Amino acid sequence: MELWYTEKQTPNLGITCKTSKTLHVEQTDYQHLAIIDTVQFGRMLVLDGMVQTTIEDEFVYHEMITHVALNTHPNPRNVLVIGGGDGGAIREIVKHRDVEQATLVEIDRRVVELSREYLPEISCALDNPRVTVRFEDGIRHVRENAGIYDIIIVDSTEPVGPAVELFSSGFYASIYNALKEDGIFVAQTESPFFNSDLIRSCFSKISREFPITKLYLANVPTYPSGLWSFTIGSKKYNPENIDIDRELTYDTRYYSPKIHRGAFILPKFVDDLIRE
Ligand code: SAM
Repeated sequence: MELWYTEKQTPNLGITCKTSKTLHVEQTDYQHLAIIDTVQFGRMLVLDGMVQTTIEDEFVYHEMITHVALNTHPNPRNVLVIGGGDGGAIREIVKHRDVEQATLVEIDRRVVELSREYLPEISCALDNPRVTVRFEDGIRHVRENAGIYDIIIVDSTEPVGPAVELFSSGFYASIYNALKEDGIFVAQTESPFFNSDLIRSCFSKISREFPITKLYLANVPTYPSGLWSFTIGSKKYNPENIDIDRELTYDTRYYSPKIHRGAFILPKFVDDLIRE
């Protein structure tokens, strides 16, 4: 018998994967959590019925949510990740030797515990001595910490449940305050095909706080439409100003300085979204 998992990504479209095993299912205090093994993408973390990450394609998302900001900042020492309990963003951040402290603030302890158990390829840097893991609400954390971070990365779930406020103006204002005077902020902002209103609204809210606001794209096969957006807000440095011939001192599979530069070149319909 074949078993297939379907995420209904919109009311009219879904992604369907043949599964080889269901590894874990539970209702945590915050969300429904499942880890399933799929034939095409390997182990997959699913929260509230939405694919968060898979072993086969996670590198695209995790490299692109981290290295663009980290390579824009000349000296990123203190980095915060909000959400990101699978540990993928942290794994990429600690590749930067300049980073002295990387803090993960995840609201749901079970996401971290189960990622450690079932997704070690992704969570492998959570025990790095430069990493601190805190189980608390990211919204509260940024409200209570002013002017201390060089970079803040919001690696959140879709805007449902505890993540709704992570897409609000008040939160972006707190992020601005939690950053140092030359700090950079980046957030995942969903699919230009299916979430155009969200992208438009996030871009407008972020650009009210940050003098430099840019959208960039990457291709993540298991996310709705595959085309995924990130919005970056910067107090001082323009993320498009990167030396494309710069040599990286660490390994990547998707990110390169050329991809960094190219990711800001937007298809016209996406560019139109953020110009409106
Ligand atoms: N890469 C993923 C994606 O875009 O599909 C996001 C992955 S990560 C698992 C998202 C995490 O954000 C979840 O583990 C969730 O518990 C966490 N989260 C949601 N709201 C939060 C909040 N207010 N504070 C801290 N973490 C939060």
